[in-house]
Amino acid sequence: MRTQLTAGAVGSRPVSARPGAPSASAMPSPAGAAAAPAPAPAAVVVAGLGKSYGRVQAVRGVSFTVQRGEIFALLGPNGAGKTTILEILEGFRARDAGRVDVLGIDPGDRSAGRALRERIGLVLQDIAVEPYLTVRETIARNAGYYPAPRDVGEVIGLAGLAGQERKKVRNLSGGQKRRLDLALGLIGNPALLFLDEPTTGFDPNARRDAWHIVCGLRGEGTTIVLTTHYMDGAQALADRVAVISGGQIAATGTPSDIGGRDTARARIRFAGPRRCPPGPTSSGCWRTASWSASSMSS
Ligand code: ATP
Repeated sequence: MRTQLTAGAVGSRPVSARPGAPSASAMPSPAGAAAAPAPAPAAVVVAGLGKSYGRVQAVRGVSFTVQRGEIFALLGPNGAGKTTILEILEGFRARDAGRVDVLGIDPGDRSAGRALRERIGLVLQDIAVEPYLTVRETIARNAGYYPAPRDVGEVIGLAGLAGQERKKVRNLSGGQKRRLDLALGLIGNPALLFLDEPTTGFDPNARRDAWHIVCGLRGEGTTIVLTTHYMDGAQALADRVAVISGGQIAATGTPSDIGGRDTARARIRFAGPRRCPPGPTSSGCWRTASWSASSMSS
């Protein structure tokens, strides 16, 4: 179960450089040569991340980098560890191992919590808002937490909630609640937006609308990290995808890199049990077999 962030303030874009990093203007340049702009630091750097819940190793040595302005998807089945990773990046959950840098801030550093929340937006799996408030009241109330929020009416339109403004939250459908979640993630005008399963509960048209919104945000320069169970969502939205399985990254690449694997040569490996019964080899143990699918096809 996730906790909802309800307080904090979000600064306006553009995102300032990582504290302590030299700016382009501070760097000496050769006489007569135009100073090359310093590359923007990555929005998110994760290295060797680990997290266990008791005996369950939810995240095991995960490393990835998200560049500024990129849409990065964590793709995987239930229980793969996606939400745990996201919660660590958001500062909601402590890590056991590894290094994490989000917009130049360590989310595990509690003293930096406010600075982090000033610059990120969250769309969480569970909505936790006052059920008796209307849609507009809910969004307007959250806007008050931020010094430079987006316009409430604009966000209502962006999230596809036009016409629902006066409806009480408790009367929204599941899909409409997810739209409200999205609106609450956008209202602070964040530099980095985390979306945990943003289109769960959406009908096909609403999914496409949500994808359109997310692409529009990327067009404005917002960095987006999202989790999804579905390859089509990752394919439609993401610049890069990390496939998570059993708490580890199984593959990273562009959606076409990842999606193209179905047409690549398959490699199938079999390993015999440790204590093998007498088998066909001279050693009395079955061998590990490994061959490509194409070699089996004739
Ligand atoms: P889903 O797609 O279903 O949301 P996920 O990929 O986000 O799954 P996580 O929620 O991160 O996966 O869970 C990873 C593993 O950690 C699972 O085995 C889950 O049961 C376990 N887990 C998650 N949260 C807790 C918790 N608070 N206490 C104990 N175990 C947990």
